[in-house]
Amino acid sequence: MFRSGSQGKYDLLSPLTEYSAEFGIDATQVKQHGHPLLIWDGEQTLHTQNALLVGESACVVDPFTAEGIRPSMFSGVKAARAIDQALGGNAQALEDYTRVINEEWGGDMRWARRLAQAFYKAPKLAYRVGVKRPASTEKMVKLFCGDLSYADVAQRAIRRLSMGLISGT
Ligand SMILES: Cc1cc2nc3c(=O)[nH]c(=O)nc-3n(C[C@H](O)[C@H](O)[C@H](O)COP(=O)(O)OP(=O)(O)OC[C@H]3O[C@@H](n4cnc5c(N)ncnc54)[C@H](O)[C@@H]3O)c2cc1C
Repeated sequence: MFRSGSQGKYDLLSPLTEYSAEFGIDATQVKQHGHPLLIWDGEQTLHTQNALLVGESACVVDPFTAEGIRPSMFSGVKAARAIDQALGGNAQALEDYTRVINEEWGGDMRWARRLAQAFYKAPKLAYRVGVKRPASTEKMVKLFCGDLSYADVAQRAIRRLSMGLISGT
């Protein structure tokens, strides 16, 4: 559930049970596990003395898609570089790690969060004007491959969603 402030307010098990039933699976007979996702929620300090927060513990998960593996690997690579530099005598390296993640990943996540806010406010409309368009699928693939950034596409997508909300299409 990506709507902010919605923790615990929605019944997620009923739709899961209905959806599973469409594939002949009785979800009530399966042991269910809940797992929170630490989505990006703004800039944070990710370093302290001799330690870095890396991967999901650094809240790098994309608030629009819940993609967490790629950003976790990204932060892992950046952390490894920072640690190497710190061991090499660069006293600034761990602090730089925080700055790099906030700038390089956080910069794009700001757009992802804006898009998520617009998208999940009206998911049925968003499905009609966004998900069903083949061009949107292509753009998402390019985003996942790192060939496009949210900064390239989010403004237009948000405008399209807003127009749909206004016109009621
Ligand atoms: C159900 C579900 C589906 C998901 N689907 C996707 C998806 O399709 N695509 C996507 O990109 N992301 C997805 N994610 C998110 C993604 O899995 C995570 O964001 C990503 O794996 C985080 O990587 P990480 O290395 O930070 O942490 P993790 O992958 O959680 O790795 C942390 C590791 O540390 C170990 N560990 C924990 N505590 C200790 C300890 N004290 N000592 C030693 N080891 C310890 C854990 O056992 C674990 O192996 C999904 C998440 C969930 C819960």
